[in-house]
Amino acid sequence: MDFSYSPEQLELKERLNKFAREVMRPAAPIHDKEQSVPWEVIKQASAENIGTLDFMMKLGEDPGGQFSIIYAEEMHWGCAGIALSIAGSGLAAAGIASSGTGEQIAEWVPKCFSTSEEAHLGAYAVTEPSAGSDVKSLKTTAKLDGDEWVLNGTKVFITNGGIADVTVVVAAVDPELGTRGQASFIVPKDTPGLSQGKKEDKLGIRASQTTEVVLEDCRVPAEYLLGGMDKLNKKLERARSGQKTGSANALATFELTRPFVGASAIGIARAAYEFTLEFLNDRTIEGKPALDHPGTHQALADLAVEIDAARLLVQRAGWMGRNGIPLLGGQGSMSKLKCGDVAVWATAKCMDIVGPDAWSTDLPLEKWYRDAKIYQLFEGTSQIQRMVIGRMQVSEFRAGLEQAKAAFEADKASATGEPVPA
Ligand SMILES: Cc1cc2nc3c(=O)[nH]c(=O)nc-3n(C[C@H](O)[C@H](O)[C@H](O)COP(=O)(O)OP(=O)(O)OC[C@H]3O[C@@H](n4cnc5c(N)ncnc54)[C@H](O)[C@@H]3O)c2cc1C
Repeated sequence: MDFSYSPEQLELKERLNKFAREVMRPAAPIHDKEQSVPWEVIKQASAENIGTLDFMMKLGEDPGGQFSIIYAEEMHWGCAGIALSIAGSGLAAAGIASSGTGEQIAEWVPKCFSTSEEAHLGAYAVTEPSAGSDVKSLKTTAKLDGDEWVLNGTKVFITNGGIADVTVVVAAVDPELGTRGQASFIVPKDTPGLSQGKKEDKLGIRASQTTEVVLEDCRVPAEYLLGGMDKLNKKLERARSGQKTGSANALATFELTRPFVGASAIGIARAAYEFTLEFLNDRTIEGKPALDHPGTHQALADLAVEIDAARLLVQRAGWMGRNGIPLLGGQGSMSKLKCGDVAVWATAKCMDIVGPDAWSTDLPLEKWYRDAKIYQLFEGTSQIQRMVIGRMQVSEFRAGLEQAKAAFEADKASATGEPVPA
């Protein structure tokens, strides 16, 4: 075990914190107020090689699995809405990388990310009015017509909806088969039939654009089906014949991506905590420095413990994922669940400590309080995280029982010379 940051991790943390402090923080209030897309920050980030394809690929190189977590925490410490505008492209890229062929990955992933010259964004469109957690119930359809796929349906709550250069759309090819009848499609910007629907007026992360994505007889070439026709046909055949398909793979992928979301929430909690310390540093309680008051110590202790505990869960999950250790106990979901809860609790607690001043938009606390809540709602609600963790814990326990039983039978057999049961 080594809990210290490597020189490379520290360097990344300092570089991103500087960007978050000097570029994101000053831009945050206006984009939060006007709910506008932070194009100038997105462009500045790419000019500084932050959030570009090259940058994202380097994040995977850390043997400790901490680079992407550091990226998420520092950027969300700057402004969660702006950070999500940039990081949202990663969702589209992950959708392409997990389903696409080598050629599709090589062609489309780079188009989701900005270069130092041009800003590019990606969007990943799954959720529908009655299908988010219940992803098997997607109503958006994809029908093959000659050498084109025709997509019809409405997606809701899509990050970077309407402004993405590449939208990855998940649609039902055979709705009877639930998730096993679904496939993902590339829909480039300006494809006829693709349009932005209602733009959400949100409580928090307001610099991140969230919209409906409407598909009306939206035609894309057959080769925009991710994974290709043969793979889809085999999947459909297996599903129709009742064989199992890749839902275990999807679960394992979520375990790897959730620590990133958890780290994002911790960035907000840490921003609120640090601000509260600085605020109290200039205040007195009963004529004494507020930072020396026993009541303050009680509150700060709880905040420090919760934030550090949540971050340690994220760091463990990041390390396990990078080192190929299966997250069979739901360690990725644990980290996301805990961090979302801590961000909501910690930002409210900081508001309590600071008092009525915190309610004013003169202080940034109210923004962090509004921004935090989403981490219990998207990328799998907290209830869904609990459901996943609970199921994974039970199957780990049952697998342990099976192993113990097999070991017991083997011991018994070797003691008595009986054959070991199959
Ligand atoms: C700001 C924002 C950005 C988003 N960005 C994207 C995006 O880019 N792409 C995308 O595809 N989606 C996106 N989403 C959608 C988001 O991921 C879903 O809203 C979320 O997964 C919840 O799904 P749902 O909307 O169907 O809610 P529901 O599942 O209907 O949730 C309603 C309530 O029911 C509970 N619930 C549901 N099922 C269960 C269960 N089995 N057990 C216990 N409780 C349950 C939930 O926990 C919740 O409390 C975004 C949402 C928001 C708000």
